[in-house]
Amino acid sequence: MAPIAEWTASCVLDAKATLGEGPSWLPERRVLLWVDIESALVCLFDPATGGNRVWKLPSHVGVAVPTVRGDLLVATQRGFVRLELETGSVTPLLDPEADVPGNRFNDGKCDPQGRFWAGSIAYDRTPGAASLYRLDPSLDVRKMVSQVSTSNGLAWSLDGKVLYYIDTPTRRVDAFDFDGGSGDIANRRTIIKVPEDLGKPDGMTIDQEGMLWVALWGGWCVTRWNPATGELLGKVHVAAERTSSCCFGGDSHDMLYITSARTGLDSEALSRQPLAGGVFAVHTGHRGLPCVPFGG
Ligand code: CA
Repeated sequence: MAPIAEWTASCVLDAKATLGEGPSWLPERRVLLWVDIESALVCLFDPATGGNRVWKLPSHVGVAVPTVRGDLLVATQRGFVRLELETGSVTPLLDPEADVPGNRFNDGKCDPQGRFWAGSIAYDRTPGAASLYRLDPSLDVRKMVSQVSTSNGLAWSLDGKVLYYIDTPTRRVDAFDFDGGSGDIANRRTIIKVPEDLGKPDGMTIDQEGMLWVALWGGWCVTRWNPATGELLGKVHVAAERTSSCCFGGDSHDMLYITSARTGLDSEALSRQPLAGGVFAVHTGHRGLPCVPFGG
């Protein structure tokens, strides 16, 4: 077996987030959008200044994405809301799980056509209690995958014909055939099995070579995989055990940004990883793609 590539990320924001998640790069503002789920914060980190602006929301925040209107679409404990950054105003849109108060939204991302895909998680981690939804720009919402436990990473293949998806407790990355015209998915199969000793697959992104970057919760790392073979290609070491998600950012999308968490770690564990909850970054020589805003 060929040796894997290895890198080490640096902490670029010692945020001490409870549950840092959901990073995406906003090219117009040249900032990293990310959230702290359990602190109900939407954050914009500016790598040029080191500043981090935060917006406190009324409920837990799973993920936020930019929209073509210039505001943010946020998947929260109480469904989908719009956040106007200039005023901080929060406008509820709809909640497909209004009848499931034990769930909150978790990870999400827009597909190449600008539809927003976001999945849920049960606070008590009941297996199969969650779902993956698709919110269209028309604001029609549809349940796309049911019997989910911890809906997490999403990525689309470079040709736009495959959706990659992580339901964390399965320890797998699965693939679906994806129809960009209709937004339909079919033919679920497993493409990557993450060995138990590496950690649990969480957030995910894709690079310009079509390889998948998967954050491993409990694994102190982000890993790079070949979706065609299931082979592990590389590992980014992170000084935080609960590595949660990643995205490419910077003007040429050549910086991998990584979020992490402090939640569930006792004071002894935190003393060994004081940067837990920070945002990390690394140049790996690989580049990603611009994130697609909601609505087109
Ligand atoms: Ca996650």
